[in-house]
Amino acid sequence: MADILEFLKLRWRLIALLTVVLALAVVCVLMYRDYLKPTPSGAYLDKTLKLKCTNCGHVARHSLGEIRSMVSRPEDLGSPIVVNCPQCGQKTLTQEYACPNCGEFFIINLGQSGTYNCPRCRTNYFETLPQKSAQDTPSK
Ligand SMILES: [Zn+2]
Ligand SMILES: [Zn+2]
Repeated sequence: MADILEFLKLRWRLIALLTVVLALAVVCVLMYRDYLKPTPSGAYLDKTLKLKCTNCGHVARHSLGEIRSMVSRPEDLGSPIVVNCPQCGQKTLTQEYACPNCGEFFIINLGQSGTYNCPRCRTNYFETLPQKSAQDTPSK
């Protein structure tokens, strides 16, 4: 009789242990999935963008996090980003792109392919960027 009770106790302990292991595994999988998900916070928001006013020429540098708090509508965060200029008050402060070839800053109007080329060296920003950024990425 005592043996059976002992056996039952052991079985319940085993089930409890299995439940804990299973729960831990589920938590690990969920955490891993969260880790893989691209989060709009952290390093991404620290990325600094150069902005230039197309109306008065005012130049400003803001992190993406700051820009997010500056815009009134989410669509203003599209391409190009447009925010209110602190100097002239017009909604003409827009993102400038650094030429991947010569570093010249210029404004790209997505959808207008004529604006994709650097005004200094005529490099196409989108055609040059993938190779250039691959080179710049330090190999781990
Ligand atoms: Zn301005
Ligand atoms: Zn250039």
